Amino acid sequence: MKADANVGQIRAYYRTLYRTWGPQHWWPGRTRFEVIAGAYLVQNAAWTNAERALGRLRAAGALSLDGIRRAPLPRLQSLVRPAGYFRQKARNLKGFVKFLDKRYGGSLDRMFLQPTETLRQELLGLRGVGPETADSILLYAGQRPVFVVDAYARRILNRHGLVPANATYDEVRKLFERALAGVVPKPRKPEADCGAAAHTPSPMSRAKRSTRAQAYNEMHGLMVGVGKQFCLKSKACCEGCPLEQFLPRPKSGHRGL
Ligand code: SF4
Repeated sequence: MKADANVGQIRAYYRTLYRTWGPQHWWPGRTRFEVIAGAYLVQNAAWTNAERALGRLRAAGALSLDGIRRAPLPRLQSLVRPAGYFRQKARNLKGFVKFLDKRYGGSLDRMFLQPTETLRQELLGLRGVGPETADSILLYAGQRPVFVVDAYARRILNRHGLVPANATYDEVRKLFERALAGVVPKPRKPEADCGAAAHTPSPMSRAKRSTRAQAYNEMHGLMVGVGKQFCLKSKACCEGCPLEQFLPRPKSGHRGL
């Protein structure tokens, strides 16, 4: 019963946020590989820093499978330095290309022919790939219907009493996926605001995908918008937050968490 109520609640969050902010145009990028590289580079980093690293890779002609393959490791480390943890990230990007070469003859097309769960497990087996990175690759590069759970989504649901702080990644993912089943994102309303996490439309954000994948795509971006603008780690700034109406009562203590 409680689980069903939570599902209804999350669906209501989606409707409210989408009505308020409209499409979020995630994930920015021109190619699938740019999305994959971005998913690695944004780990433990602000998007602006990942974007700087992506820009340096692009300017150096290294933002492609072949570019990563050919770049000597020290050069790659220097290029991705703005994203932080540059040694690990450079090594992990090379690791991804090595995996792709060995397992799929260097072809993303072949890799994305795999069933979603098989590919998810393979990605999770790579160094530096946790569930959030694997699911970002599946959803945003592969257009697979897999919801991406991040710290923002967890924090929001936890502050609204929908999941405990120790809920597993997959528990939260499945909750979102149930809640968004059957949701159909509509074209943007011209008067809608964009929200704090909206990106400029890009070839990858406009890629063809199923309705389900589109709903997961939008909801992830919308939750990031709430997390960045209102539901900060240090403090919940509930006043003016589009989800304020859903705060649990009478737990007024949620304000200012
Ligand atoms: S800022 Fe407040 S109203 Fe908004 S999501 Fe966080 S806890 Fe909820």
